[in-house]
Amino acid sequence: MQETSTRPDKGRPLLRRAKSAAIPSAAEQPWPILVVDDEPDVHAMTRVLLRDLSFQGRPFEVISAYSAAEARRILTERPDIPVALLDVVMETADAGLTLVEHIRRDLRNNRLAIVLRTGQPGEAPEREVMQAYDINDYRGKTELTAQKLFTALVGGLRSWTNLSTIETLNATLEQRVEARTCELDRARRFAENLVDMLPHPVWYKDAAGGLQMYNRSFRELFHLPDHGSAMPAPLEELDRHTDATVRNDGLGSLALEATLDMGGEQRTVMISKGLLTEESAGPPGTIGLITDITERKRMEHQLRQLATTDDLTGTLNRRAFFTAAEQETERSVRYGNSVSVLMFDIDYFKQVNDRHGHAVGDQALRAVAAALRDNLREVDILGRLGGEEFAVLLPETSLDDAIDVAERLRQAIAAIQLQPGQLQPGQPPLTLTASLGVAERNADEVTVDMVLARADLALYRAKAHGRNQVMA
Ligand code: GH3
Ligand code: MG
Ligand code: MG
Repeated sequence: MQETSTRPDKGRPLLRRAKSAAIPSAAEQPWPILVVDDEPDVHAMTRVLLRDLSFQGRPFEVISAYSAAEARRILTERPDIPVALLDVVMETADAGLTLVEHIRRDLRNNRLAIVLRTGQPGEAPEREVMQAYDINDYRGKTELTAQKLFTALVGGLRSWTNLSTIETLNATLEQRVEARTCELDRARRFAENLVDMLPHPVWYKDAAGGLQMYNRSFRELFHLPDHGSAMPAPLEELDRHTDATVRNDGLGSLALEATLDMGGEQRTVMISKGLLTEESAGPPGTIGLITDITERKRMEHQLRQLATTDDLTGTLNRRAFFTAAEQETERSVRYGNSVSVLMFDIDYFKQVNDRHGHAVGDQALRAVAAALRDNLREVDILGRLGGEEFAVLLPETSLDDAIDVAERLRQAIAAIQLQPGQLQPGQPPLTLTASLGVAERNADEVTVDMVLARADLALYRAKAHGRNQVMA
């Protein structure tokens, strides 16, 4: 046991200091006990009584203050002192009680266990004072036996330790709550920023159908204020419709293509929708997302056109003709409908090229294709199979009707009078003729190739019989 002068301790609890290797561990450190008394004898006596005692393996260290003022100074610097043994009458009759008030109210030290000691029984504090100032114990100085002093100290140390533990736990809990709040806040900000950065318009509606949130793209697409808009008109009906679907289909999500009328401009969009259950269980809200696929659709259409169209004449190319014709033939097989095909070949076309040049030949091919188109129905399938050879599939058309069509086409071609710039001035306009072979699908024919083969034979006969005619 030794007397030490007070050291500034920056208010750290002793337990923390145990972590540092240079400082003795908490277990070895003495409990600092503040004795506040204007009678030097009391200090000496206390020191003697505590010399051989210890609590939880730690001895006691008496820190002396001979006045309330000195005690104030010490306690201000040493918030780690767990117990104070306090005289009541010192500088003034109530110096001790005033000190207690200062400790609790000004220093806000509620952990310190305060044991009041008085010389006279008349100086004993009232019960209300004990409670009001949170005084832990009261002893007469005559009771200064080692046993009684020890009991008072142990009571005080236990109270101090418990309060310290609670304070540490509270601080830890507060730290964890703060860290968690911080984490959630960061996650929320991340999600909000992410949604706002999305190029896709996104919106959220609560179960009651109120538009609760939308991102920047949504705002910009529909020219909305930052907050609090109603569902924008171009989306309203589509939104209601998809809401009903997503709520009723049991899957909880959907994606569909639709057209948005943006003030006269049609946009093709993909609407994705999902149900979103909020924290407080109850009917879910819906989250919607728009992907504008207008450009993609346009390019797809363009690519399909390029892949299926014959460059020169604008009719279907060979592959696209066969695909479409095959489909139509399958349909006619399935439903037992009649279907007929025409094979068409320009007569002596080589001569056109030879006499007038390839460019005129091209022009003639375009004129022929246009004449064929003009004389066919929307449902008829026209394709250029190659060179100056075309094929036509006529859905739901009997052989007789197909022959009529072929005859009409033949006459239309014969009526063409080309006046290409490349022809020599004064020359008569260029005329063309064509031969056609016709065939209707037989009951036993299941592919378009089979029917076309017979039409090709008929065409061959038409050529053989002098051209510019229809054969079946
Ligand atoms: P036929 O009455 O027996 O059908 O005689 P034809 O001369 O029409 O038949 P042939 O098959 O001998 O010649 C077809 C010609 O078509 C050969 C070729 O120069 C021409 N041709 C094929 N494709 C094109 C094209 O894209 N442009 C032009 N200008 N000519 C083409
Ligand atoms: Mg020919
Ligand atoms: Mg030919």
